[in-house]
Parts: sequence; structure tokens; C-alpha cells
Amino acid sequence: MSDSAHSLSNDQEEYQFVRVLGRGAFGEAALYRKAEDNSLVVWKEINLHRSSKNVEDSALHEIEILSLLNHDNIVTYYNHYIDDESLFIEMEYANGGTLHDKIRIQESGQLLDEEVVLWYFYQLVSAVAHIHDFDVIHRDIKTLNIFLTKSEIVKLGDFGISKVLDGENRLATSIVGTPYYMSPELVRGEPYDLKSDIWAVGCVLYELLTLSKTFNATNQLRLAAEIVRGEIKDINEKYSEEITELIHLLLHKDPNQRPSMMETLKNPLLSSRRE
Ligand code: ATP
Ligand code: MG
Repeated sequence: MSDSAHSLSNDQEEYQFVRVLGRGAFGEAALYRKAEDNSLVVWKEINLHRSSKNVEDSALHEIEILSLLNHDNIVTYYNHYIDDESLFIEMEYANGGTLHDKIRIQESGQLLDEEVVLWYFYQLVSAVAHIHDFDVIHRDIKTLNIFLTKSEIVKLGDFGISKVLDGENRLATSIVGTPYYMSPELVRGEPYDLKSDIWAVGCVLYELLTLSKTFNATNQLRLAAEIVRGEIKDINEKYSEEITELIHLLLHKDPNQRPSMMETLKNPLLSSRRE
């Protein structure tokens, strides 16, 4: 994190630095303890260094939207500030790792119980339904961005902020990470829309049931071809037929055939969970 972030915390003694959580494409995320109430929070830095004023404005706009979102299954945004070089965002800390970690730990071949998968999935769909209700598109739904608390509460994080930057830094971001969750229409170069989030939600569900990526390949070109082909291997017989049907709906090649998140919540697999 840049000097300014540390000095802010030191000068005001409002936040005590705990440790760096990791580095993303545009900066670092670090854990801080808030002196006021001893709680842990995350400060994420997004480097605006080479971006235009326009990008800065859209990032700030994105934050305004995020601050409107208030849901148990969404990482809460607390605060932000901006200096010459970076945007800093203060947010809720999820202390139980990510769904990606969960899947990796499990990869000894021991499949998760359907009940466990549905518990995570229900929370994810609830979160995405909430943001879609505000006409916000996440744009980067993947197991790495789905956090957990120690009590197994899902916290969807990492909204479009870095994606706002993507437009201008396309070259930089196309090298970072493999687009496992990209929908066929995105592969074809069509603009992002809510239905691509739904595709990604389908990919996450499939990954929870198989412990492997829905579409995978040794390079990005092959991956794109796999996605457009859209064929997926059957899931293990221990899972219900209803869940297979749901996967095929979410991963429908025609975006218009994919159910909305609201409709998905009404699916009998999930509807019994609603309070
Ligand atoms: P990207 O720039 O594409 O978002 P990234 O997700 O790797 O890349 P960050 O979002 O900055 O980068 O996150 C860096 C690290 O901090 C990751 O390991 C992430 O799991 C962790 N992290 C980020 N936000 C939180 C949070 N709210 N609670 C717990 N861990 C977090
Ligand atoms: Mg991230």
C-alpha cells in the first residue's frame, strides 16, 4: 500500500495496520483494526495512476452505488477516500476465506453434500438478486470473489470497481487471470449485461458440485471455443435431477432463456429456504 495510506492510519491512529491480505490487479488489500471499536476492516487500494479523470469519475460513481447496497450476503462498503494516485475503499472483512479455497481444500475427491452446496448457492443467488434489483451488474462473479465468514455466511465482494478501470487498461487486464466464467455472448464480443452474471452464477454452482472449473482449457483461445461449444460433463449421480436441470437453465447458450435471479430463488430447490 502506498505511503499515504499508512500515514493516514498512523497520523490519526484511527486504524492499526494488521497485515496485507494480497495484491490485486490495481493495488493491495490490507487488514486494519479500527481503534474505535476494535473491529477488523479491509482497506483496498485501487491505483488510478495512469487512468483518466473519466475513469476516476466512474469509479466514484460505482462506489456511490455500492454504498446503497445493503445485504447480509454482500461485503459492506464503509468508506472511501481518494488521493493523487489511488482510491482507497474501506469495507467489511470476511474472515473465512473464499469459495475458491473451500473447493481447493475439498479437492481430495470428496464431493460436497447437496445441502451444503445449496446453502452457499442460495446465499449467492440472494446477493446477486439484490444487486440486479438495483440494476447493478457485478461483472466479476467467480469463486475467488465469493468470500465466507467463519460461520459460513457468504459475502459477495469485489464489484465492478476494477472493471470500470478495465475499459482503459484492457491490455493489462486481459493478461491477468483466465476468463473461466465468461459467457458465450461475451466471448463473441457482445456488451456485458445481467445475463452474463447469471451465466457466471451457473459456473459457480457447477464448480461447487464437481470441484472443477465448468469450462477449462490450456489456453484462452481453447477456453473461448469450449465456452461457445457450451457442453458440460454430467454431475455425479449423488446429486438430484433438479439441480442438473437448474445448471442447464443458468448455462443456457441463449441469454434470454436464462432465469433471472428472482426466478431462480423461486426454484423449489431454493424456495424452501426463504424466510
Ligand atoms: P482484483 O484486482 O481482480 O480484484 P484480487 O481479487 O486478487 O484482484 P483484491 O480484491 O485486491 O485483489 O484482493 C486481494 C486479496 O485480499 C485477495 O486474496 C482477497 O481474497 C483478499 N480480500 C479482498 N477483499 C477482502 C475482504 N473484504 N475480506 C477478506 N479478504 C479480502
Ligand atoms: Mg478480488
